[in-house]
Amino acid sequence: MSVRDPLTIADPEQLTADLVHLSTIVDSTVPGWTRQALTEADVVGRHWVRARMAEAGLDAHIDGAGNVIGVLHGTAPGNSAIMTGSHTDTVEGGGRYDGNVGVAAALEVVRTLHTNNVRLRHDLIVVDFFSEEPNRFGISCIGSRALTGFITPEDLDRVDSDGVRFADELTRIDIDPSALLSSRMDSSRIKAFVELHIEQGPYLEEQGSDIGLVTSITGIKRFRVAFRGRPDHAGTTPMNRRHDAGCAAAGSVLAIEQIASANVDGRGTTGLVTFTPDAVNIVTESAELWGEFRSPDLRWLDDAGTEFHSAVQREGASRSVEAQLDWLPSEQPAGMDDRFIEVTAREADRLGLKQSRLYSGAEHDAAIIAKKIPTAMIFVPSKDGRSHCPDEFTADKDIHSGANVLLNTIITLDRELDFD
Ligand SMILES: [Zn+2]
Repeated sequence: MSVRDPLTIADPEQLTADLVHLSTIVDSTVPGWTRQALTEADVVGRHWVRARMAEAGLDAHIDGAGNVIGVLHGTAPGNSAIMTGSHTDTVEGGGRYDGNVGVAAALEVVRTLHTNNVRLRHDLIVVDFFSEEPNRFGISCIGSRALTGFITPEDLDRVDSDGVRFADELTRIDIDPSALLSSRMDSSRIKAFVELHIEQGPYLEEQGSDIGLVTSITGIKRFRVAFRGRPDHAGTTPMNRRHDAGCAAAGSVLAIEQIASANVDGRGTTGLVTFTPDAVNIVTESAELWGEFRSPDLRWLDDAGTEFHSAVQREGASRSVEAQLDWLPSEQPAGMDDRFIEVTAREADRLGLKQSRLYSGAEHDAAIIAKKIPTAMIFVPSKDGRSHCPDEFTADKDIHSGANVLLNTIITLDRELDFD
């Protein structure tokens, strides 16, 4: 097989201009660069992406799950497909790069293939996945879950804090909830998924690397703990006669920090604690705590769960406070495809880019897709490791390098891998 020279994207300024344009489609009433799923800005943004896909020569539509999908038909009709893409929704007060980079780069990859008269054998499917970020109904990666069949009727019945049903909210923005359940793709046809994304952490910058090759995506174990003690007078009740649910919760918060700090890849976070009654002069009767552990190592996640369960029991028992630990829907760590990691490594080498391997501590559509389709992820550096904030920044040259790796990875997968 002849070794081809690596291509570079045809119009880096156009890629940058697309990102700038997306950053103008935001909810101006909220700080930062906010385009949350289920809002007007997100609807406008996804229609803009669909139009941009069509201009790039893709057969583009918005599917029943709200995903924007564009197909570049391959030369072998009925052949299998390669998929790429990311998301354009943001968190509240988020940045301009998370997700957007992978969608804008995929568009430039398609334009570059046209400019260079490169025809792929496989169909190339470009996706802007619907609602990757967790929404107010507590579900993330809705579009990728719908495509792979990991969304349920129960998910549609979830309600937000105002009692609004998720299904009703979808209907309001013209997404038919039943279509969401039936938007599954024939995943056996899709032989590879490659997602370009910003790192959202400091590792690549610390290493002085241009490109990150993701080895796996973190698993997440989420929980809720309810503590029930006894309300008492804050002044007259001696310390040794209290059943303080707040103190049991506080001890458990510190246990989360201690358990996660003992392992270099362990992460433990308390996201929310509530005390009842919410009063300064009453010993807390009940407390609720929501949190999570993350790690790419399933065994550590299980061990952390066992250790945390013991800590919760200990913190409750020492104060005669009842403690109930419930595990919430969680994600297993998702491994990336070893063959694809080698392809991306080779392409980054050929482009003269310094690379590092790392696991992703953030959740991505790629983690959902990887359950059904062999998957690779390419990271580009985030300045100071900042993300999910207005200061999120990745330099144009790094985005262009990532797009170049994506471009050549897709061409090589199309030519060299015998999928069928
Ligand atoms: Zn993202």
